[in-house]
Amino acid sequence: MSDHHLSIEELCLKKGMRMTDQRRVIAKVLSAAKDHPDVEEVYRRATEIDNGISIATVYRTVRLFEDAGILERLDFRDGRSRYEPVSDEHHDHLINVETGEVVEFHNDEVERLQEQIAEKLGFKLVDHRMELYGAPLSKK
Ligand SMILES: [Zn+2]
Repeated sequence: MSDHHLSIEELCLKKGMRMTDQRRVIAKVLSAAKDHPDVEEVYRRATEIDNGISIATVYRTVRLFEDAGILERLDFRDGRSRYEPVSDEHHDHLINVETGEVVEFHNDEVERLQEQIAEKLGFKLVDHRMELYGAPLSKK
């Protein structure tokens, strides 16, 4: 099953979800976002397209997408839930503690190491989440 190329709207339709105009706008905003926005930011972008959308609708819709397994909620310790489309292509996150910017990365060695650790402890690794918190090295 390879759905990572589908947009959030397409995934919703595939799941038989009823798509209103407002849901469609929110789905579009989430699909286009590459920066793990929180609800406030999704709301800001959605109202640029349709200013009739309320923050409550954004909350409800994001929750709906999350419950449907289309959207993943991330918590980077700043008290805000961030969102990104669920993807088949696994990646981890590095959070810039000075700017809050989120950098995505994938490292085969780290992936292998985590599997080995789980195996040594008597487990088959089925999922993991790794967050690195970093301050930028000064470039001079
Ligand atoms: Zn990500």
